[in-house]
Amino acid sequence: MIDRRKFIQWAGASGIAFSSVGWSLLARADSKKKNSTKTGTSTGVPANTGIKGRVVVIGGGMAGATVAKYLRLWGGTGVAVTLIERDSAYTSNIMSNLVLNGSRTIGSLQYGYGNLSSRYGVKVVQGEVLTIDPVGKKVVLAGGTSHAYDRLVIAPGVDFDILPGLESSAAQAKVPHAWKAGPQTTALRNMITAMPNGGVFVMSIPAKPYRCPPGPYERACVVADWLKTNRPGSKVIVLDANPGITAEVNAFTDAFYNVHADVIEYQPGVTITSVDATTMTVDTSIGNIRANVLNLIPPHRAGKVISANGLTNTADGRWTKVDVLSYESTTAPGIHVIGDASATTQPKAGHIANQEAKVCADAILRLLSGLALDPSPHTNSACYSPITATTASWLTANYRYDAATASMVPVPASSGEAAARSTKNFDEMGKWFAALMGDTFA
Ligand SMILES: Cc1cc2nc3c(=O)[nH]c(=O)nc-3n(C[C@H](O)[C@H](O)[C@H](O)COP(=O)(O)OP(=O)(O)OC[C@H]3O[C@@H](n4cnc5c(N)ncnc54)[C@H](O)[C@@H]3O)c2cc1C
Repeated sequence: MIDRRKFIQWAGASGIAFSSVGWSLLARADSKKKNSTKTGTSTGVPANTGIKGRVVVIGGGMAGATVAKYLRLWGGTGVAVTLIERDSAYTSNIMSNLVLNGSRTIGSLQYGYGNLSSRYGVKVVQGEVLTIDPVGKKVVLAGGTSHAYDRLVIAPGVDFDILPGLESSAAQAKVPHAWKAGPQTTALRNMITAMPNGGVFVMSIPAKPYRCPPGPYERACVVADWLKTNRPGSKVIVLDANPGITAEVNAFTDAFYNVHADVIEYQPGVTITSVDATTMTVDTSIGNIRANVLNLIPPHRAGKVISANGLTNTADGRWTKVDVLSYESTTAPGIHVIGDASATTQPKAGHIANQEAKVCADAILRLLSGLALDPSPHTNSACYSPITATTASWLTANYRYDAATASMVPVPASSGEAAARSTKNFDEMGKWFAALMGDTFA
């Protein structure tokens, strides 16, 4: 177990802990005296590091926005970076559970792409990539325009399976998963506030791997806490496909069996067979359960652009396995996959997506420069989990590259969870979030 002070040093308000990545390239650029004092933008993009290349990034979420920014910041103006994002602004999943209890608005979680273009010179294109041509080295958008690349980074996040019974869009609207923040989050909030006293909120958690391991348990706590005060007598039933709590076991065991024991009923090892959105009933391995609000989080897979272009390569056909020294696909040369869509030993989390993006940016710049890859990258992940409207817990994990297994392995001495939930943790959660989002989008 690590102590709180150390955790804050690694992941807290002073900024997101950087792995050693990137600095070696900057040092190399600085050593080229002719370039060391010039900057191409007011925020430190070097005018010329000697590195040249075209990088296209698909997806402007936690991973894609970070890699685009750091490719420019470390690579300089010779590296042309095009970021292609479907939406005009990004809505953060992180903190979106706090929309459900009314302590945040969905608008407060939105981030534009203006900084990436004006401060770092990233070319931001709004559009959806449909086709990837690895031979012609170009991507094609829904409207037919294409963008050529020397290296491609794909960071599309996840897509969701359709649960049996929820095939129609009308049924899906009645049972929002809200595991991608946006309109579904607002819809779920409205459903919760429309619940009667003594109502039943049923949620499900898919089998691992899914995005944000503590997130569903955090949601159960936030909703239970709100219902306790505002809809007395209500219940939260948690149907977990996993055999037990998958993250922050101490915090959530305390939350489920102590803090919210009067509201939360936790059922591990449950399989969902079908859903009836008309009767608001879910058929499961432990029987039929009827709810006022159904919030079922389906199993995930890499964002569709990956499967549609034949880029999944794991045994289950859902993710892209990558070399974690560069995040290059193990089967598609020149194509890097970062964030939730890649299969690594690290959690699918926004903080890790930011870290993977930096390792990837560093690796691409080295590849464009003909340098060897950094042989020992480090990454870290942090996550704060609200347990009530004023208290939170946290979890952190540090990873190092293990050459024997060619994977990222946790560093036990600097990984662990908070000793107890507290209001101080809750306050620090806001600082951590601001630092992470600033590092990604500002
Ligand atoms: C409720 C909740 C709470 C969470 N809390 C935390 C937390 O406390 N800490 C933490 O670290 N993580 C947390 N997470 C997880 C975190 O949000 C994800 O792990 C993170 O967003 C993954 O980043 P990404 O870049 O891979 O995907 P995303 O952030 O989802 O970004 C993917 C982007 O790609 C775009 N895109 C997809 N396909 C295309 C295409 N074909 N063309 C163009 N654009 C495309 C999408 O529009 C999207 O903007 C939470 C998640 C949820 C749901």
